[in-house]
Amino acid sequence: MLESPGYHPLQPPQEFRLDIFKETAMAMKPVVDADLCTACAACVDACPEGAMYMNDDESLALVHLDKCTSHGACEAVCPTGAIVLTDM
Ligand code: SF4
Repeated sequence: MLESPGYHPLQPPQEFRLDIFKETAMAMKPVVDADLCTACAACVDACPEGAMYMNDDESLALVHLDKCTSHGACEAVCPTGAIVLTDM
């Protein structure tokens, strides 16, 4: 039986697994829990893509899903744990 280094018939090649990981990571988008958000705007300041913004009365953080690149800075900086990156 021919064996290829680093390949097992029951385990996909690493490149394939990396592609799946990247696609899954890219699909993760922030969801803001309105009950936990204190409107501190830390996520707005932290997002390098400008994807986080405050609603009209500045009482809740919202997400421009089209701008979000799943960077995760918003989730990391939120002091109340109001943001969770979620598979969409
Ligand atoms: S960092 Fe958290 S608490 Fe502050 S505005 Fe954003 S979601 Fe709300």
